[in-house]
Amino acid sequence: MIRNIKCNFQSELGKIQFINNKWKLYFKNNQIKYYDKLILTCPFPQLKKLSKKFIEDPFIKEKIKMDANITVMIEIKKINKNISSYLFDDKILGWAAKENSKKRFKSNNDLWTLQSTNLWANKKINKNRENKAKNSKILVDRFFKLTGIKKTKILTSLNHGWKYSSNSRTLKVKSYWNTKLNLGVCADWFVGPRVEAGWISANDLYKKINK
Ligand SMILES: Cc1cc2nc3c(=O)[nH]c(=O)nc-3n(C[C@H](O)[C@H](O)[C@H](O)COP(=O)(O)OP(=O)(O)OC[C@H]3O[C@@H](n4cnc5c(N)ncnc54)[C@H](O)[C@@H]3O)c2cc1C
Repeated sequence: MIRNIKCNFQSELGKIQFINNKWKLYFKNNQIKYYDKLILTCPFPQLKKLSKKFIEDPFIKEKIKMDANITVMIEIKKINKNISSYLFDDKILGWAAKENSKKRFKSNNDLWTLQSTNLWANKKINKNRENKAKNSKILVDRFFKLTGIKKTKILTSLNHGWKYSSNSRTLKVKSYWNTKLNLGVCADWFVGPRVEAGWISANDLYKKINK
């Protein structure tokens, strides 16, 4: 869908200004760009920092606490268990998915994605970059303990943390559009924590723009 749309990746927006009916965007790589219309789709804390003086709707004053998430991907020797995923009732490990079961690739080893609970990640996320090995070990040990899978050598391991991963509280509005400023906001956190929520929010904004 974005084949014919000009995209710039890896460029962080640091500041926005509305001058002579145009949006002036200041990027962290020192680029400056001008646009007629601006739609922001970032996590709530980043949105607030960038745009709170332009947004008139009360949603911008809400105390939205986005939850963190820490995920570890591991590769282990194949075990003969016909299981695709586990959902745990645990304070640390939320769920585990066996990527091989999605049949996107073939591997002689088992590849698992282990996702922490938000509760645990909220406590650990600020130091996750320094503590990657330690936090990965906690999640991996938990995985073997809870599943009963015999502890085996970890052949590959990759840890990734998201500070603002999701918001499970729904807001009263699904998106924001300001006709005078040509400024729009849509994102999953208006509606919920899943990708459908992002789509619902974007679709709601589309309808507001085309009213
Ligand atoms: C670990 C994890 C697993 C998930 N698993 C699932 C799943 O299995 N199923 C499911 O349905 N959903 C899942 N989700 C949720 C799903 O990824 C989100 O709902 C969806 O990506 C939200 O889309 P979005 O466009 O609203 O925001 P995002 O995808 O978060 O996009 C926001 C973008 O804004 C960028 N950004 C932020 N600040 C700036 C700035 N200042 N300048 C420029 N860019 C900026 C960010 O880098 C990011 O690329 C998962 C989320 C996480 C974190």
